[in-house]
Parts: sequence; structure tokens; C-alpha cells
Amino acid sequence: MAKIPINIATGSLQQNEVIVGIDLGTTNSLIAIIHPESKKPVALKEHDGNALVPSVIYFGKNGNILVGDEAKPYLTLEPQNTIFSVKRLMGKSYNDIRDHASFFTYKIIDDNTESLVKIQVGETFYSPIELSSFILKELKNRAEHILKMPVQKAVITVPAYFNDAQRQATRAAGKLAGLDVLRIINEPTAASLAYGLGLKPEESKTVAVYDLGGGTFDISILRIVNGVFEVLATHGDTYLGGDDFDRAIMQYWMQQLGITENDLAQNKEQAQSLRLLAEKAKKHLSVSGVFQETINGKELTISRERFESLISDAVNKTLECCSAALSDAGLRVEDIDEVIMVGGSSRVPLVKERVKSFFKKELNDSLNPDEVVALGAAVQADILAGNNKDFLLLDVIPLSLGIETMGGLMDVLIPRNSKIPAKASRQYTTQKDGQPGMKIAIYQGERDLVQHNRKLAEFILKGIPAMPAGLPKVEISFLINADGILTVKAKELRSGVEQSIEVKPQYGLTDEEVEKMLMESLLHAREDIAKRALIEAATEAEQLSDTAEKFIQKNKELLSEEEVAQTKKAIENVRIALAGTDKDKIQLAIEELNRITQPFAERVMNEAVRSVLQGKKL
Ligand code: ADP
Ligand code: MG
Repeated sequence: MAKIPINIATGSLQQNEVIVGIDLGTTNSLIAIIHPESKKPVALKEHDGNALVPSVIYFGKNGNILVGDEAKPYLTLEPQNTIFSVKRLMGKSYNDIRDHASFFTYKIIDDNTESLVKIQVGETFYSPIELSSFILKELKNRAEHILKMPVQKAVITVPAYFNDAQRQATRAAGKLAGLDVLRIINEPTAASLAYGLGLKPEESKTVAVYDLGGGTFDISILRIVNGVFEVLATHGDTYLGGDDFDRAIMQYWMQQLGITENDLAQNKEQAQSLRLLAEKAKKHLSVSGVFQETINGKELTISRERFESLISDAVNKTLECCSAALSDAGLRVEDIDEVIMVGGSSRVPLVKERVKSFFKKELNDSLNPDEVVALGAAVQADILAGNNKDFLLLDVIPLSLGIETMGGLMDVLIPRNSKIPAKASRQYTTQKDGQPGMKIAIYQGERDLVQHNRKLAEFILKGIPAMPAGLPKVEISFLINADGILTVKAKELRSGVEQSIEVKPQYGLTDEEVEKMLMESLLHAREDIAKRALIEAATEAEQLSDTAEKFIQKNKELLSEEEVAQTKKAIENVRIALAGTDKDKIQLAIEELNRITQPFAERVMNEAVRSVLQGKKL
């Protein structure tokens, strides 16, 4: 029955699980959580202080698989056995990627069809889902190692433009990695959450999220109203990113050294070290004016000015995408309230400068741009865990929903924090013989007695054909649609009689009221549990004594005089116990009556009586 785990001793919410946020990136992936003490999102880091796991998988000779930094060197050394950019293949068929097939240095099976792509490594075929699951498994292991506890639940981010197939594939990869994927959220939404945007109920803002990663550029325009994120427009270039900056530096040096593409193709080690050095130079130039290093006796240098002139066109291309996104959204630059910088490549000073002057606005760039998506996913995870009480997402239900059962007890059908849309159903039966109708009262709240909860609606299911008590099967189902509207349906399954009602659960409840109701359920948890136990025992006692009484009247000729006398005595005892409030006494009397009636009840019980004894009643 418990809806939220409560520690009875301390009266506090029990927290024995963690929900992680995961940025499953094209170039790098990482995992973040809300720090249990600071309550701030943090990226999980190994001792070396590095949170990023390169999204690279290497398949070694004897079946060993390396993921991340260890796999990276094999990109140039054994390209056919080393998978990168698998995110680009998620939910795609060969026909989808045909134009870019040469980009991939590993083997993608060309089956000339619309079915999902397969990748061949050695003798084995892998789907992008399986490959992504290797990365997710690595992240999961890492997190478990750092946190020293099992990690099972996660929120995973995807680009805003991902279609349903790509989202499903991402979810499947999570499942394959042993993760319960609570939600897939958009990367720009996550980045906004990391900056605290969308967390205040009455806030409305228009946000531009500029995301320049390793191989992709995305610009998303979001509208945030009352904690709901709407993607107004997305634009970008799926083959433009930091890798192009590295390549520009490499080509510059190749010219200086007089090395051709052909030379590099011959000498993989040289290509590898030049590529790595170019990336190092690029990162260095984000914080200083010149880069200089000697390899093999040759001096390689590049100034920031030179670098900026090399990448200027690429940066301008991203701004053209920004213009296009704005125009798709029907907005002007002045309509943007916030600009958020995402992706490792947004650290490049020229990028920041140009974006700032394009939007004519200060940038949100205080968080690590390559961590910000994972940080926001952790914020979302925390909200789903119900820890962030200041903020109630519209797409989870804030309070449990249920109906009143006998004795005024709350029977929860949909527990609080359930994702919407949601549905649940349960069967009930009647209390009296020939009962023609059944009252269905719908409540919202965490307390065990409906009188302490909030009544949302009530209706009567009419026209149940005459049947003995306990025989009708009334199925009550709750359905909450994506707009948070609850429809309650009651249907008598034997006759097909049904009726339904529409309720808006959140209507008229402020966040403070919701919070107050939750607090009260915590404060009264102990007494509520005791009260519920008493009511449940009393309800059972009443039913049982009535049934037993009816039973001996009906079946007198089948019972011995002694059996009848014993039963009457036991019924009497149950009724005496019922007059008091001692739950244990009631329980004992019930057990005694059960013990006496069981042997002959079994003997003569028919279907109807069995239902009476077992059915749950309204
Ligand atoms: P993705 O979202 O594509 O997985 P990231 O956001 O992790 O990728 O961005 C990776 C890119 O960021 C790489 O090209 C990397 O070289 C680049 N990058 C990381 N740090 C810096 C830096 N300090 N200066 C410039 N580029 C950087
Ligand atoms: Mg990214």
C-alpha cells in the first residue's frame, strides 16, 4: 500500500536509490547525479578528474572490448575494429546514411534496404543499439564504481531533432545495458535545466541553445512556459564540429611540413600523432595566444589568429543555421531571452565572440559546456525521483489518485510521481445482495483515510443486474492522458454496464497545497498506518461474521448442531471484539471464526459464497 517509502522511525523519505542523468554523445558520453549533500548536479569523475568517456568502442583480438579513452588510439591503428559516432546510426537504415557511408571507417552492411543498419566487426554483426549499449554499460559500471552502489535507473538525453525510431533505439540501448530508462529528454532541454531555466513555475522564456560538439552542430529554439518545454525550431549541420577544427590545424601543419594526405595514409602512427597534437593545439588556443611543440625534431606552431582564420567560415556557417532556426520559429534575435552554450567546441573564443554578437546578448557559459547536458539530465532525474519538491513537473502526477473503499480507506490506483500518460485498473465487487448501483468516489492524496485527502469527483455506476453480494465484477480503470486529464471508468464485467467521468486532478491545487498534503502524509504516517490496519481488520470482521451468519442459516441441514453452536459463539466473539478498538483482538477473533468455519465451509461452499468470502467490496 505504501506510495512513498517512509522511514517510520525518523518520519523522513527513504532514499536508497539513485537516478542518474546520461549524455550519450556522438563524441563523448558522461554520467551525472545530484550530489546528495550539496543538492547540485555534478558529473561523475574518475580519479584522473575526467568525466568524459569517448564514445568509442574497440573490439580486440581475443574478444575483449575496450570503451572510452582506452579505445581511442585504435581509431587510426585499427579503424575496421573501432567504432565511433555510433549515435549517427541510431534508428537509421543503410539508405538513410548512404550519402555519408565513406565517413565511417568501419564496415556497415549495405543491404540496400530500409531495415535498420548492421555493423560488421570481424565475424560478428552488431546493431547500433548493441554498440550504444556497450557505451552505456561502461558508464553504468563507472558510476557504480564511483558511487559504490547499484545504478539501475537513468534519464538519457537525445538531440531535439531525433525522431521516434531514434528515441526508441536509445531507450532499447539503455535497457540492453541493464538500465531502466525513466525518460528520454532533449539535449537542449537538459542544458536549460542545468542553468535552472524552466524550474520556476511562473517563468516564461525563449531560449536559444547553441551546441557545437565534436562532429555535429545543433541550434534549438525553445519556449519554456510554466515548466513545459516546447521546441520551436531546430537547425544545424550534422557534419560540422570540433573535428573540422582539428582537421584545419592538421592540414595547416601538413602544408608547412610538406606532407601529403597520401603520406599520412601510408603512415598511420604519424597520422594519429598529428591528429592528437592538432586537438591539443586547438584546446590550448582556447586559453592562450599561441601553441608550440616539437615532435621528431620538427617544430609545430600555430597562433590563435591563424587558427581563427582557418575556422572562420565554419563558425559563420553555424550562425547561418541560427538565422534559419530563428526564422523557422518566426522570431527575431531580440525575442531570445537566454543563449546557452553547449558542447566542447563552444569553448573556442572565436565561437563565443561571434555567437554573442549574433544574439547581442551575454552568454550562459559558466558551466562546463561538455558536461552541461548530463548535468541537466541529472536535474530531470532528481525531479522524477520526487526529491525536488520546489518543482512539480507537469508530466508526472504530483499526488496519488485512488478511490474510496469500505471503511473510508483510500485505495490508490495511480501512485504519485507516476509518469503521464498513465493507466491502471482494479476489480471490486458489491457489498449487498441485489445491489443495483455502486458509488465511486475519486480522491487525490497520500493519506490512508479518504477524509484526509482531496475529493475530486464522485459518480454512481447504475444498472448493475440483481446478483448476490460479491458476484458482480466491477472493473474501475483510471486513465490519465498527456494533458493530465483523468478519466475514470467503471464497468460491470458480467453485464457490460459501464459509466465514466472526466476529472482534472491538478485543477485548483497550488504547489504549496500539494506540498502541504505531502508533508501531512509524512507527519501522520505512523497513526495512518495503525488506523488503516484497524479499519481493514474491522471491515474483514464485519464481512466475515455476516457471511458466516448467513451461511449457517442457509446450510443448517448440512451442519451438525455442535458446529452451529460453535460458529454462533465465534461470531459473537468477533462482534464483541468489534465494539472495541483493539486491532489484535479483532484479528484473533477472526482467526478463530475462520478456523471453526473452514472445514464445513469448504464442504458446502458454492461459487457465490466463495465470491462473498473473497471478494473485495466497495
Ligand atoms: P559531442 O556532443 O559531439 O559528443 P562534446 O560536446 O564532448 O561532443 O565535444 C567534443 C568536442 O569538443 C571535441 O571536438 C573536442 O576537441 C572539443 N573540445 C573540448 N574541449 C575543448 C576546448 N577546450 N577548446 C576547444 N575545443 C574543445
Ligand atoms: Mg553533445
